[in-house]
Amino acid sequence: MSEEIFRTIFEEVKFEVLQCRKCGFIWQKNTPNSQLMERIHNEWFHTDDSLHFQLSASAHHFSRLANENSLISFLLNMPPSKVKVLDYGMGWGERLLSAQSFGYEPYGVEISKRKIEHVQSKGINAFSSLDEIDQNFHFIFSYGVIDEVLDPVDIVKKLGRMLEKGGILKICVLNGSWLPEKFNKSKGRWDPGMKETLPLIQTNCFTPGTLEKLGSICGLTKVNPLRIINALASSSYQGSNNIRFNISCLLKHMIGTRSGIEIFLEKQ
Ligand SMILES: [Zn+2]
Repeated sequence: MSEEIFRTIFEEVKFEVLQCRKCGFIWQKNTPNSQLMERIHNEWFHTDDSLHFQLSASAHHFSRLANENSLISFLLNMPPSKVKVLDYGMGWGERLLSAQSFGYEPYGVEISKRKIEHVQSKGINAFSSLDEIDQNFHFIFSYGVIDEVLDPVDIVKKLGRMLEKGGILKICVLNGSWLPEKFNKSKGRWDPGMKETLPLIQTNCFTPGTLEKLGSICGLTKVNPLRIINALASSSYQGSNNIRFNISCLLKHMIGTRSGIEIFLEKQ
């Protein structure tokens, strides 16, 4: 069934990627409407595979999540018990489970009903939309969602309004910095190596610059890297894995790396 729809879409609609001359923002010209978008995310691509991945992930995976969660308290300079966190696009809730174990008050949003039920069964507040939440947060994180929504400005504005003063929004997406170069090499043809602009899925493609711009349009300021260095130094355990985590965390915030952008935006 979905294959049929897929074929129809590509017979009738051209796949085009555009870039703004002024700010460099890259996006797909033709995007699915909201109903199709929901089907794509709920039925086609979000299978149980990701839960199996979580259930079979090694302790290394969870210690990286622990590093990310440890950093939150030091960045905010608040004890975990006072911190409310929201994961926008929580998936099966692994980041929130880790946040919960640190003592944060965990909330999550996800469109899939099965994922919501799964996360709720772990004692975490989980919702299907931001509109259902009547709370403000000290820290909001969002992994791989902003590049898949129809209107990223609208979403980031909403998330910004839900931040406490001094609160931080962490946005993590694929890095589109090399996409124009890839299109040049392929003479304008899309190929599977261009994950940053997956047809129907990655409808917006960000670089560190355009993400910072998105933040400023929504009233959020990029956190000073020195503050991140300080928080990393305070939150660190010993060991080489940790040094690698610290360096990659800083680079992903400052300039983005091949594996992605992880920018921290503050509400002042
Ligand atoms: Zn522009």
